[in-house]
Amino acid sequence: MTTQNNAQLDEALAALAAAPSLLVCLDFDGTLSEHVTDPYAASAHPAALTAIADLASQPGTQVAVLSGRHLEGLRAVFPLRDPVVLVGSHGAEPTEGGPELSAADAAYLDRIESELRRIATPPAYVEVKPYQRVLHVAPVVETDPAAAEAILKEGLSIDTEGRPVTPGHNLVEFSALDVSKGDWLAEYKRSFDVTFFAGDDTTDEFAMAALGPNDVGIKVGEKPSVATLRVPTVTRMAHFLTELASARRAAQPSRPE
Ligand SMILES: [Mg+2]
Repeated sequence: MTTQNNAQLDEALAALAAAPSLLVCLDFDGTLSEHVTDPYAASAHPAALTAIADLASQPGTQVAVLSGRHLEGLRAVFPLRDPVVLVGSHGAEPTEGGPELSAADAAYLDRIESELRRIATPPAYVEVKPYQRVLHVAPVVETDPAAAEAILKEGLSIDTEGRPVTPGHNLVEFSALDVSKGDWLAEYKRSFDVTFFAGDDTTDEFAMAALGPNDVGIKVGEKPSVATLRVPTVTRMAHFLTELASARRAAQPSRPE
């Protein structure tokens, strides 16, 4: 990372620390946790967890973890609860409520699931989520990257009838609903003066695009992004959150209540 990027990160940190009310919205996989082959072996960086708990306990500060995982899958790997808000399925599964699937939606997911099961030669596999079906090739990448690539390509050739299909890290996701992280964030962030969002993947770009001029977005890693700020690793993200928690606590007396 360049010196210029470091100066911009410091500047962003100071603005976030001083915000009267702040929403800290974080992706999970690849942002708080390393990408691992078994999704349920993932765990958040310990320093990130400590910083999140600290931030969530401070006045005028809300933390939300916004994941592509279904809510149950997110809860299985992320230990913190209220007042931290957990949101699954790219925003379709807030902690309470969520849309109902129509019969047509359910039939669509059934068809996608059967096509994916035909394509997903083990150890590739199909994940079933309430609103999505996901083709995973991470276990194949380890032994045969070309085969993994071919499986993903075949998955992407499925007819989705115009419904959303999103490539991710060693996966392709098929959704019955057109709900993106951007939709959820655009609505939820209205209650806050400033929003901070961090994410590493393609789907996180919808959330990045929902940020306003006073908000801060940080991309983790090297994927293309509209974000102007980057950190290279999950560990560096954890450090940023640690610094933010401490800077915000230090700025607390000077903020309006
Ligand atoms: Mg991610």
